[in-house]
Amino acid sequence: MKYKYCPRCDKAYIKSRLEKDSCIYCGGPCETVDVKRNGMYYLGYAIMLAGAASAFVPRFVVVSAPELFIAAGIGLVVGGSVIIIMANGAMTNMAKEKAMEDDTAPE
Ligand SMILES: [Zn+2]
Repeated sequence: MKYKYCPRCDKAYIKSRLEKDSCIYCGGPCETVDVKRNGMYYLGYAIMLAGAASAFVPRFVVVSAPELFIAAGIGLVVGGSVIIIMANGAMTNMAKEKAMEDDTAPE
């Protein structure tokens, strides 16, 4: 995943494909760094998918307590998104650290 880091704003954020290399906040020059998705991100994704699947079970299969599947599904989806948000935070920090390292590294 490509991240941008703006030294002027001291902010790192996900770079979208259409964006130029300038900061979306101040328009200044940014560092672009590549950060690999961490394991937490995939874990959050898997939990979210499992939750979505669980919430859909009562639609396709006759179960005795469909509301339990739906409640569990919603819980998992919410939990998964929280993990993804946390993983994103960790990756943002990594992007920041990487951008700062690149600055100090000798050419
Ligand atoms: Zn900026």
